[in-house]
Amino acid sequence: MQARRTVPFVDLAWQTARIREVTDAAIARVIDSSAFILGDAAEAFERSFASYCGVDHCLGVANGTDALELALEAVGVGGGDEVILPANTFAATAEAVARVGAVPVLVDCTDDYLISVEAVAEAVTPRTRVVAAVHLYGQAAPVEALRSVVGDDVLILEDAAQSQGALRGGVPAGGLGDVAATSFYPGKNLGAFGDAGAVMTDDVDLADTIRKLRNHGGIARYEHSVVGRNSRLDGIQAAVLSAKLEHLDEWNQLRRDAAARYGDLLGGDERVRLPLVADGNEHVYHLYVVRVSDRDRVLAGMAEAGVGVGVHYPKPIHLLPAFGFLGLGEGRHPRAERFATEIISLPMYPGITADDQEYVVHTLRSLL
Ligand SMILES: *Cc1c(COP(=O)(O)O)cnc(C)c1O
Repeated sequence: MQARRTVPFVDLAWQTARIREVTDAAIARVIDSSAFILGDAAEAFERSFASYCGVDHCLGVANGTDALELALEAVGVGGGDEVILPANTFAATAEAVARVGAVPVLVDCTDDYLISVEAVAEAVTPRTRVVAAVHLYGQAAPVEALRSVVGDDVLILEDAAQSQGALRGGVPAGGLGDVAATSFYPGKNLGAFGDAGAVMTDDVDLADTIRKLRNHGGIARYEHSVVGRNSRLDGIQAAVLSAKLEHLDEWNQLRRDAAARYGDLLGGDERVRLPLVADGNEHVYHLYVVRVSDRDRVLAGMAEAGVGVGVHYPKPIHLLPAFGFLGLGEGRHPRAERFATEIISLPMYPGITADDQEYVVHTLRSLL
């Protein structure tokens, strides 16, 4: 009997195989040093990733959600302040805003799935403190256009969790705004062997504040100069991230090659809306998201045929029960709502083969 064909949604084993010897040795060094929390391996990674993003400071933290929350807390956003963010993002962006006591002000997106600058311009009030520029699916939000509509008094926080290595106007994601948060969740373009995240900024005072907040309010042990928390990068995760960072550009290029192949295979088919790349952007295709009608049936058919697919995300933030307290019903952000019913994320990872992609496209086409 012929084995049933499957194409996974992501394949982390391909990446791991390419760095295994290096990570085994690097992990062993951390174990031998007993520096499990922060320490030399973390500092080395923070320096490399800051330089990769073109910023002065990178602070390793426990995960991407904490990175967002710590960035907001460190800039002093709290009760009654408004933070503008796109309705179509992962829940973590909105969670961080709500957790610091600020009001999430949701706005709609444009056809490239990025935050709508026009909608932001309409949403600004005297209470607006921050705009969260989410670099969704792997391409940077229009940070310079956001800057021009919000002015210099509103901070731009990049949610760079899906965009390690992406460029806008030649500038790396993570270095485009005032402060940036990223996630090294294993499935991200730069992923650890567990949870990890980081905050990036050029502002030395902000960096010092975050360094304290992430470590019980102090840099030295038992100092506690502010009420902090525990959100630190592990040495082992940092060692893995340093090893993977060496490959990030090459692996992002493989993602772009795979995206170009999907484009060739699907191009000209009116039934499938391909991802748009905004002017000036170098996309890193964390996700390859297309739109089809009758999405749920297509989704089920793909899964049935052994193709790993996803929906990022099934509901915009304002329609999630957790954010029901915002009192925003259906119809509020029509583009985000419609896209949520049409989007489907196709398998995308470095190491996906041309054969696999042909099978994905063949399967998709047969279901339309
Ligand atoms: C993954 C992700 C996060 C959260 O990162 P965690 O490390 O899982 O906490 C935040 N924002 C976006 C857009 C993400 O994709």
